[in-house]
Amino acid sequence: MFATLSDRLTSTFKNLRTKGRLSEADIDATVREIRRALLDADVAVPVVRSFTGAVRERALSAEVSAALNPAQQIVKIVNEELVAILGGDTRTLNMAKNPPTVILLAGLQGAGKTTLAGKLALHLKSQGHTPLLVAADLQRPNAVTQLQVVGERAGVPVFAPHPGNQGSDDVLPFGADPVGVARAGLETAHQRQHDVLIVDTAGRLGVDADLMQQASDIRDAVSPDEILFVIDAMIGQDAVTTAQAFADGVGFTGVVLSKLDGDARGGAALSVASVTGRPIMYASTGEKLTDFEVFHPDRMASRILD
Ligand code: GDP
Repeated sequence: MFATLSDRLTSTFKNLRTKGRLSEADIDATVREIRRALLDADVAVPVVRSFTGAVRERALSAEVSAALNPAQQIVKIVNEELVAILGGDTRTLNMAKNPPTVILLAGLQGAGKTTLAGKLALHLKSQGHTPLLVAADLQRPNAVTQLQVVGERAGVPVFAPHPGNQGSDDVLPFGADPVGVARAGLETAHQRQHDVLIVDTAGRLGVDADLMQQASDIRDAVSPDEILFVIDAMIGQDAVTTAQAFADGVGFTGVVLSKLDGDARGGAALSVASVTGRPIMYASTGEKLTDFEVFHPDRMASRILD
């Protein structure tokens, strides 16, 4: 995903290698190149501005380290600033003192929430947790079935209403009430001693008031320990406005970038944490349940500058 950005930055640094000492003009020229590379990669303008401002200031005031040549010093500064905009330290899930830990997934339709629910459940299961998935996306006809398929693949149980199954013993009295499903899912997790509850919610194609209200109602019903905002990295510049709308409308504690395996230019990945002040916690990198990574800002920065 970051191939172009990575090439652009690397060639910028290459031009510095022959320099013995960097003048202010050299630093300004380098910062301009970095700015263009970031803008071309779809990084949000305010993020580019603060990033290049920080790099310039630090490069101008950098103590000359005998161990590093000027190019290496700039690379080091850019690396540290990339880590910072990607959220700093790797953040792990905030686990509840009294289980179950409740994780709510929010995001637009097609962002990858249902897929992510299965990936996260599998990941947590492999760490010895006993997750329960809850199908509170009742908007799309197939969403419940899709979560059940994903749960089966992950070997994790799914709590879901069966609206078309009237008369059977496992009919749940919710109709199309996602808040009721989420609440009953939480009760079930308590009863069956699941230590983590992952609640999949409905998305819409665009941000709208109903979507925000429903996600907020579910949030209030289950008091999540984490609200993970799932964003499709392929949506480019729109990622930032969407993220901001969810931050204002529902609030979230962490970001999951999905479809990082695609050929987007990477700007979403580089902007969302910085604009919302919430860390990227996981990356989704494909359609298989194992295409999933804990997000490490330092490793991502090194990958970009490799
Ligand atoms: P939801 O509407 O937010 O629940 O999104 P889904 O989980 O249904 O995902 C929408 C589509 O994107 C599905 O076809 C998924 O298989 C696909 N998808 C989800 N995550 C990824 C990913 O990381 N990479 C790729 N390439 N496809 C993904």
